[in-house]
Amino acid sequence: LSERLSGVFDRLTKQGALSDEDVKTALREVRVALLEADVSLPVARDFVKAVQDKATGQSVTKSVTPGQQVVKIVHDELVHVLAGEGEPGKLKIDNAPAPILMVGLQGSGKTTTTAKLAKRLKEREGKKVLMASLDVNRPAAMEQLQILGVQIGVDTLPIVKGEQPVAIAKRAKMQAAMGGYDVYMLDTAGRLSIDEELMQQVEAVRDVANPRETLLVVDGLTGQDAVHTAENFDARIGISGVVLTRMDGDGRGGAALSMRAVTGKPIKFVGLGEKMDALETFEPERVAGRILGMGDIVALVERAQETIEAEQAERMMKRFQKGQFNMNDLKMQLEQMQKMGGMESVMGMMPGMGKMSKQVKDAGFDDKIIARQIALVQSMTKKERANPALLQASRKKRIAAGAGLEVSELNKLIKMHRQMADMMKKMGKMGKGGMLKQAMK
Ligand code: GDP
Ligand code: MG
Repeated sequence: LSERLSGVFDRLTKQGALSDEDVKTALREVRVALLEADVSLPVARDFVKAVQDKATGQSVTKSVTPGQQVVKIVHDELVHVLAGEGEPGKLKIDNAPAPILMVGLQGSGKTTTTAKLAKRLKEREGKKVLMASLDVNRPAAMEQLQILGVQIGVDTLPIVKGEQPVAIAKRAKMQAAMGGYDVYMLDTAGRLSIDEELMQQVEAVRDVANPRETLLVVDGLTGQDAVHTAENFDARIGISGVVLTRMDGDGRGGAALSMRAVTGKPIKFVGLGEKMDALETFEPERVAGRILGMGDIVALVERAQETIEAEQAERMMKRFQKGQFNMNDLKMQLEQMQKMGGMESVMGMMPGMGKMSKQVKDAGFDDKIIARQIALVQSMTKKERANPALLQASRKKRIAAGAGLEVSELNKLIKMHRQMADMMKKMGKMGKGGMLKQAMK
């Protein structure tokens, strides 16, 4: 998919303002991308409309293509929708003991998330936490929470065989008050799908505990189903926030967008693995990147905007057109690359280039080499930089020694310079720099 998107965007190479046509073409693909990322149709439609209004007529930054610019606008809108009000990762847990009710389908990751969250509250906020399992349905479910509790050093409510969920909730509440706990967490039982019995059980528990937070735990890989689950739970139980688990898997995160658009509830945390540390504050930027599946084009655009000064590029281009490309130009190019985070990072951010960046690295062309090449240019005299033809054996020795490197390395640099200079010359000759402008993008 990312290839198809970048394909479309590559075709949009006109400069100036974004035309209606540019935006429409790009947005058709964005819509497909959203649907493939499991965003529901009405949500995708509304979203695309919002972006269209924002994008048309915007002027294009010189150093990026209109396609990349559209991606950025789409990205920003995604972030806007994904980010709810209130601070992600923060829970309302004043007035000790504050009850947190954990709900969701079976296997969504409730028990794991309960323990992860308890650990986080304990370590980051210094809270004294009590966990209680209300899962009387699945064999060994209560022991599972107990074992996790021991592992992370958080207390669990002692297990009483045969006790029912409401009774367990009452006991947890009492124990939390008597034991001086800041928070008590109720890990409920799930079902394979939503059913009446489950809902009644959770409702009864809710009424006893009167939770400060009711967190719905949903499997981020289940896409559209996750959204239905959220709607259902919210309608019956009333949820205060969502935890998306399995975001370490290859789901595209479309569920997150639909969930926000449909329920309006904040996504508080994401689960990123089975380990107890694998719980993170929900970051809209990250998920937006995932949905677009565009590598990190947005970061690339942003960095390009920051680092490439249009004027400087323009001046250089004029020189190249005249066939001038000396060592100073080469040095500037190398520094530009360095500023943007080095070869590996620049290539890693371009869709489809991830693999190539590894090859480049394997071939021994890494960021350290860029630094060494810059050092070599620096140890040349002004004259040598302006006229690389001067570089004969004795000068080479001096330059290499000055940079603390081998002459062979300098030879490589000279060869690279010659190749680039040739290329620039050729492109400069081809019609008023049209080709060159393309190559610079
Ligand atoms: P529950 O039935 O809702 O209580 O689900 P559990 O907490 O027992 O989790 C079910 C399985 O999912 C367990 O094997 C967990 O280790 C796993 N799991 C939970 N959260 C995550 C997550 O964020 N990423 C991954 N990869 N696995 C998870
Ligand atoms: Mg469980």
